[in-house]
Amino acid sequence: MRILSIAALAVLVSVPRAGAAVKVVASTEDLADLTRQVGGDRVGVESISRGYQDPHFVEAKPSFILKLAKADLLVVVGRELEIGWLPPLVQQSRNARIQVGADGYLDASLSARILDVPTGPLTRAMGDVHPLGNPHYWLDPANGRRVAQAIAQKLSQLDPGGAATFAARYADFDQRLAEGEKRWDALMAPYKGLKVVTYHRSWPNFCERFGLDVVGYVEPKPGIPPSPGHTIQLMREMKQLGVKILLVEPYFDSKTPDSIGRETGAKVLVMLPSVGGEKEITDYMKLFDYDIQLLVSAIKETGAAAR
Ligand SMILES: [Zn+2]
Repeated sequence: MRILSIAALAVLVSVPRAGAAVKVVASTEDLADLTRQVGGDRVGVESISRGYQDPHFVEAKPSFILKLAKADLLVVVGRELEIGWLPPLVQQSRNARIQVGADGYLDASLSARILDVPTGPLTRAMGDVHPLGNPHYWLDPANGRRVAQAIAQKLSQLDPGGAATFAARYADFDQRLAEGEKRWDALMAPYKGLKVVTYHRSWPNFCERFGLDVVGYVEPKPGIPPSPGHTIQLMREMKQLGVKILLVEPYFDSKTPDSIGRETGAKVLVMLPSVGGEKEITDYMKLFDYDIQLLVSAIKETGAAAR
């Protein structure tokens, strides 16, 4: 048997063993995909919530405690999006590597541009589920780019041998995303200033990015179900402003949006806020392809124009 030199051994131990990819758990499918985009086969990624679930209220399976126990990295949306379901799982995993503040804990919101940051006192007491600013920030591709870069940096820190791979994969992602942005901007360009209403406050980043004007919400406050008084007031405003598009997330009861649609003539459009919301939305680019195509055909169908 040949005796390996110390130097050769050092090389051997620095090369990741087969199956020794960085184990990542992401709280959402969007973050899981961004991690895969930059991590490639040097990471093994799982997401806890599914793209068709309301990310504020996820019934997380206890099986995730085991996955969290083995994870090297936990990537979260942050801004208290997961506060109702993730902290107990992380705690019960007893994995010191992924606790808040540890090297294996990445709060993606820290690298993103956050809208609706409250200037006054926190409003969670009134039921508002967005007390630290809007947590649906991944719906602006510019934030997807920032988050992907932060993930690539974090992976390089945890797996220095992969740093060149992560940097190259990020550069490739960045380029593909830029091509996507050109495509999406061109499709949306004719509709700058179009007034829309949304159910939950999921779309401020999306609407700002693509030039839509959100004039109202079906929920009186983020996380608070619609009330008759608020709905009547909203329908009055929609009629006055000629709003023809109502965006609804797939996990809300369609009863109120449908009656608003009937009353005002607005088209109720189920837009998908996350990767995995439909089978065909297998990655971050396809999410925008899907939503923008849906939106543009609805705008054309209703004859809605900016006014
Ligand atoms: Zn929300």
